[in-house]
Amino acid sequence: MPVRRKNDRRADTKHLEPMTHAAPQLIATREQTPVRVVPPAAPMDLPAAERAARDLLSALGADVSRAGLEDTPRRVAEAYAELLTPAAFNATTFANDEAYDELVLVRDIPFHSLCMHHLLPFQGVAHVGYLPGERILGLSKLGRVVDLFARDLQVQERLTTQVATWLEQRLAPRGVGVVVEADHTCMSLRGVQKPGSRTVTSALRGAIRDDPRTRQEFLALTGMAR
Ligand SMILES: [Zn+2]
Repeated sequence: MPVRRKNDRRADTKHLEPMTHAAPQLIATREQTPVRVVPPAAPMDLPAAERAARDLLSALGADVSRAGLEDTPRRVAEAYAELLTPAAFNATTFANDEAYDELVLVRDIPFHSLCMHHLLPFQGVAHVGYLPGERILGLSKLGRVVDLFARDLQVQERLTTQVATWLEQRLAPRGVGVVVEADHTCMSLRGVQKPGSRTVTSALRGAIRDDPRTRQEFLALTGMAR
């Protein structure tokens, strides 16, 4: 027992050291507000999903006892469960002590999602930006927020507005801009079969929507202003 406790303490110290030593000014000047974002857990019944996948394969004419297909229903169930489960993360915000008042933009955030009409993937990139108010958010968290809503049964329009609304509500910035560009396999592989076509959606809020200069700057930085 004592050995174990010692190890635990050492592990804790290791964990803390990089923060206090590497960024003393950050700790001293910026008030941190950590917020754990835990996606609401949708009730998931994997055995039922596996049975349903087996039924679907049978209904499509597949012989599910055939070599190579025995484990497919389980794999399908697990694959969809993974695609629909976003990771929890810490959305730590910091006081904007330097009064940074220009755009913060992370471009080309890769994502994938599931089209709710066909259960087929759509994937692409999101450009997420905001005009800071009193608080700023760690840059990597913008990608986490995209994943939070992308790992769901989605339509691209709603994904775009959900990311914008989340930032607006959590960060109270002076403006938010989200542009999503995606290829939908339900369009490229079936239906109209237009591979290479990209669907672009945007959600602009606050000064990024209303202030012409900021709007233009945001659209230019995202490559949307041509
Ligand atoms: Zn679709």
